[in-house]
Amino acid sequence: MEYDPSYQQICSTRTVQSDKKGFFNEFYLDVKEACGDKWLQNYFGKLKSNAARILSIFSDREICDPVLGVLEHVQPVYKEKDVLVSSQRRAQADKFQLMSSNAELEEDRKELLKQALMHANLAVMRAPAPQLDMSVDNGLSLALAYRTRASILIGLGEGEAALSDLKLATNFGMESKQSVDYYCKMAKAYAVMAESARAEISLKIAEKLAGAETAIIAACRKDIAGLKAVKREPAQKALAPALAHGENPALSGAANVVKLVETKDKGRFVVANEGLKTGDVVLSENPVAACLLPNFFGTNCHHCFKRLHTPVACLHCSGIAFCSAQCMGEACETYHRFECQFMDLFIGSGMSILCYIALRIFTQAASLEDGLQTSNLLFEHLVSHQDVRQPDDYLQRSLMAGFLMRILQKAQYFGHRKTEGVNPTAVELQVATSLLGLLQVLQYNAHEIYHTMVTDEHCFEGCKVIYLGAGLYGTGSYFNHECWPSTAGYYVGKRLVMAATKPHRPNEIVAVNYGPIFSKMNLKERQRSLRGRYAFSCNCMTCQENWPLLQKIDKQVRFWCTSANCVNLLKFPKDLAKDVRCPRCRKNISLKESVAKLIKIEELYREAAEAMQAQKTNEAIDLFKEGIDTFFQIAALPHKDTLIAQQALLKCLANTGSTFKK
Ligand SMILES: [Zn+2]
Ligand SMILES: [Zn+2]
Ligand SMILES: [Zn+2]
Ligand SMILES: [Zn+2]
Ligand SMILES: [Zn+2]
Repeated sequence: MEYDPSYQQICSTRTVQSDKKGFFNEFYLDVKEACGDKWLQNYFGKLKSNAARILSIFSDREICDPVLGVLEHVQPVYKEKDVLVSSQRRAQADKFQLMSSNAELEEDRKELLKQALMHANLAVMRAPAPQLDMSVDNGLSLALAYRTRASILIGLGEGEAALSDLKLATNFGMESKQSVDYYCKMAKAYAVMAESARAEISLKIAEKLAGAETAIIAACRKDIAGLKAVKREPAQKALAPALAHGENPALSGAANVVKLVETKDKGRFVVANEGLKTGDVVLSENPVAACLLPNFFGTNCHHCFKRLHTPVACLHCSGIAFCSAQCMGEACETYHRFECQFMDLFIGSGMSILCYIALRIFTQAASLEDGLQTSNLLFEHLVSHQDVRQPDDYLQRSLMAGFLMRILQKAQYFGHRKTEGVNPTAVELQVATSLLGLLQVLQYNAHEIYHTMVTDEHCFEGCKVIYLGAGLYGTGSYFNHECWPSTAGYYVGKRLVMAATKPHRPNEIVAVNYGPIFSKMNLKERQRSLRGRYAFSCNCMTCQENWPLLQKIDKQVRFWCTSANCVNLLKFPKDLAKDVRCPRCRKNISLKESVAKLIKIEELYREAAEAMQAQKTNEAIDLFKEGIDTFFQIAALPHKDTLIAQQALLKCLANTGSTFKK
């Protein structure tokens, strides 16, 4: 396969900056021009270690001035709070809620409440932390926003969400202990949850607090009588499935049905143990670090990636949101406190999501030492392809590492610094060096994270895979690529789950697909893409046999020779009545039984497809498993219907992972 360094460089560049418009590209081009090609090729390009490269960009005369000059100016850029916008939005929310209470049609009432909710969400997002600005709402805008939203949610019949908003309102300064209003709202929230006993207790407390003002309680009782209680099924939460035969003690997150092996030319990779069948879960692993794509900052939880309905805001920025107080706490007490003030700088720089992940490995670490240790371990264990990197590539990555380190400086990650200058200390150089290593490792080892978007009507028809972010998975990185994978990957939140889409013989490679897939891309395109993006030539069966594109595969299939101990594939017999002669074992055998089984298999696939149509996902999965397992006993790929069945099985499995409605 021809080597194509310029294409490789384009692919590589995209893993540092996703957006040419960002200022990072300009920075890189300026520095490159300043240092000159000679210096780049003859000096910088010849440096042997990441530490030397980092030291060079900060101290070599040819380059350090433009680098320090630009990094000097790194400042917080983020979407700030705006108390006026918040209180205006809250007023809008109140207005729509009032309109809804006068609506005659239930449909109109719901629609107006949805409008109100939208405004209340924005009121929550833009409200500053309590007591920050006493000129508006007495410093209680945030609490008021949550309280307003709670009453809208009661109207929408979402008692549980209302209760958690009431709690947040209290956390952020709303008087609750002596508040009649608070207990009345709580009573209503319980009432819509059909928890009448709890509603009654809350009402009793309100009654006591109200004392002589019995009219308030009477009004509340009247409201409650008018509320429709909905006994909700607990929300169908996707759960991580169990690993087949338990977890492999030597390979965290992986099942006992697989193991890690190492060869000279292929490095470390995962193969099957005894008894790996179709549908077996081979991996269920949380990421070392994962980041959400900026496009989803407004629609998905920054921490767990769940689709947002009633966002909970960071106390300091308005650029991101969380699904719950718990996610907010976990993020803001760890990584987000360092990232908060730079969220818009990240976006403006045009840096790729892989750079966020590199930074996150440090910001989320319990300590600086932990961050260094984690990143150095990753660099040691995962592929980074130092051999194919060009001087330009190293320069670009070194500058990105320097930029990320500078953000950490400004975020006081290294504590309070004595100077505002960039000049890094010894430990800061170490961190920049590790960041440079991570940027190389992430290029080849990060996974895209996606959830399935389903429609209101059907869980398969019209469903779409939505790419939400990316993550680095320690064990997940060890799976090799094949152009037709033997596993299906999907996500439960950020957790990567992989299940086999075929039975595996012991020591057979358990493969994933890095993107170039034979069903959509021909051999030449696949090889070019894999060379460029991942720096290897694929040698999988699909490539060796050069399978045609899926739609061009005919129905004919190759059967295994049926005589004992013979491993040979035979063409579909021309005449079923006659025996065929196997050229390997030289026996005459009949393929009649195999053909009969194939007919049975096709029947199973049809039934599975019908089960999907009827949205009986688990039934469909079981039928596909049986059909596919049987197929591989008698025949080999490519076989159009089995390939389609494997794809459909992936769809079914993904449906048991994280899904959301538009
Ligand atoms: Zn969350
Ligand atoms: Zn925060
Ligand atoms: Zn923030
Ligand atoms: Zn291949
Ligand atoms: Zn044979």
